[in-house]
Amino acid sequence: MEVPLLVNDFLARAIKLYGPKEALVDGDKRFTYAQYGARCYKFAHALKNLGVGKGDRVAILSPNSHHFMEAFYATGAIGAVLVPINYRLIASDFEFIGNHSGAKVFLVDSDLTEVMDTLRSKLPTVQHYIVARFGNAGLPPGWLDWEALIQGLPTTPPPDPGLKESDLYSINYTSGTTARPKGVMITHRNSYINAYNFIAHLRINHHDVEMWTLPMFHANGWGGPFALTAMGAKHVVLRRVVGADMYRLIENEKVTFACMAPAVLAAILDYPDKDKHKITTRPRFTIAGAPPPQRFVERLEKELGWEFMQIYGLTETSPILTVAEVKPHLNVQGNDVYRLKARAGHDAVGVDIRVFGANDEEVPWDDTAIGEVAARSNVVFEGYWQQPEETAKAIRNGYFFTGDLATVNSDGYINIVDRAKDVIISGGENISSIEVEDVLYKHPSVLEAAVIGVPSEKWGETVMGLVVLREGKTATEKEFIDFCRDNMAHFKVPTGVRFVDALPRTATGKLKKFELREEFWAGVARRVN
Ligand code: AMP
Repeated sequence: MEVPLLVNDFLARAIKLYGPKEALVDGDKRFTYAQYGARCYKFAHALKNLGVGKGDRVAILSPNSHHFMEAFYATGAIGAVLVPINYRLIASDFEFIGNHSGAKVFLVDSDLTEVMDTLRSKLPTVQHYIVARFGNAGLPPGWLDWEALIQGLPTTPPPDPGLKESDLYSINYTSGTTARPKGVMITHRNSYINAYNFIAHLRINHHDVEMWTLPMFHANGWGGPFALTAMGAKHVVLRRVVGADMYRLIENEKVTFACMAPAVLAAILDYPDKDKHKITTRPRFTIAGAPPPQRFVERLEKELGWEFMQIYGLTETSPILTVAEVKPHLNVQGNDVYRLKARAGHDAVGVDIRVFGANDEEVPWDDTAIGEVAARSNVVFEGYWQQPEETAKAIRNGYFFTGDLATVNSDGYINIVDRAKDVIISGGENISSIEVEDVLYKHPSVLEAAVIGVPSEKWGETVMGLVVLREGKTATEKEFIDFCRDNMAHFKVPTGVRFVDALPRTATGKLKKFELREEFWAGVARRVN
């Protein structure tokens, strides 16, 4: 028998088996699976009544909310394609994505209606603007009210739209750090298989309570809406990443699980009033999106006693590719456990990970040779929306090339050493900016660190550290350079260190190194990877 792999099944299962169980908490609103499911289906009917059907694109522009959680299943139920947009981008990006995806409807949080109103005349394909209102927000003119639309509609699924597993579930626009964002086409099958990996490797079960530290727009919340719902676990929405809110939710909602970028983990580790909270769970924190310093692993596990899990992947891979699991037969002990967990990990089930060096030959497992990470799997996307030439560039010999550089250790665990474009080439030697950052993070005065290559007449490029100091700490450039000399090969040591108040990051916590480089490279050409 072959039954199509559709994410819609996950919600149907939760309603059938976990109807009375609490599913979703957002501020003072609480929904059981029966109630959450009913709201998803009502909204599916509402969209259908507006003329939205199979294959139509429905954009969503919103911070995390219960409405966002409903959109994941409402669009799936009618076979529409969800287009989650990073709401921290700027107006011209919203315009670009709206037009490029050909969105028919925009679902917008009440905080973002004003910016959308400035774009209306430039978005010819958009027929309906629907607002999800919070607090006392009034209904702005020209907007349809989400709650009014679902009034009195059926709480059961609309008729089967005849979906195949290869039909598109979503188009996720990538961060677009240097160029315009690209639309990553994710099918139901991609998301379904990713959800299974999420459940298996992150050990999701019906006792779990996920705190939504991760923005839902990012790679569909890494598949959390599917994995947690499939297993009847509970979603706790976090609208903004604020230390006090996170600790309050962990304590009161008894959070057991969360996904986040290292920058969010830093906010949790550095929250000053930790001791005021009585936390009775031992949350599992899944970290990805950027390489976490080993120090973060130690602090989470030693200081807080919680569990650190690392995964690695891309929007293009739904996203899970690797997991850093400590395999029992390796007998890893003591600090080696932290060292291993700071690596991106090894192939998730159903993923074939290779690291290819020169001439597309696999690099040896010696943790020294560097190559590009490539993956072959059913989680790999369908292609870039209306950009077949970009798709063709990314997929070669049956593998998707990620643009990330890595080494592989003798047990097959990969370590991401850099994005190809961020690696520093100094005097012909490749230097991993991430490795230098890792050393800087070991210095007690460092709150945040970024390392970039800057032009050098002598070396072509040389290493520059940018450091945000911890409050109340002082340090000199020389002190950092000496500290690095004591802790790493000398050719990798920064030749300069600058102190900055903050580091520019994308909404998903990635350092915008291209922005940091700009000042140093003005008028000088840098190599292109
Ligand atoms: P995105 O498509 O926005 O999710 O970004 C994917 C990129 O994030 C990857 O290509 C990596 O450069 C980076 N990334 C994701 N997870 C990790 C990780 N565990 N370690 C290092 N970099 C990561």
